[in-house]
Amino acid sequence: MAREFRFREEAGWSHADEVLLCLDTGSWRIERPVVDEDRCTYCGLCALYCPVQCMVNKENHFEPNLAFCKGCGICAYECPRKAITMQTQEDS
Ligand code: SF4
Ligand code: SF4
Repeated sequence: MAREFRFREEAGWSHADEVLLCLDTGSWRIERPVVDEDRCTYCGLCALYCPVQCMVNKENHFEPNLAFCKGCGICAYECPRKAITMQTQEDS
């Protein structure tokens, strides 16, 4: 069954029709989330919890938009399948 996710990859802190504020939050990152597609069940919780709404819907899993991902690790913490691991920038 096809799923419809309404999360929009847009920018920091806005779910309005117009982007209110766009910050280069990706430059804050010292770690990045890496998604294991084989473990991902496409539940969408990582996209729901991501504070900057930068998880991009790839139709069968989600991937972070690294231009905005600030490396907070909330997606990895909330993922019920432990499909996301945080890796240092040097390792990724
Ligand atoms: S929370 Fe985990 S299992 Fe759910 S879509 Fe995100 S990566 Fe996949
Ligand atoms: S680490 Fe995860 S929750 Fe945090 S900004 Fe990046 S994608 Fe969003």
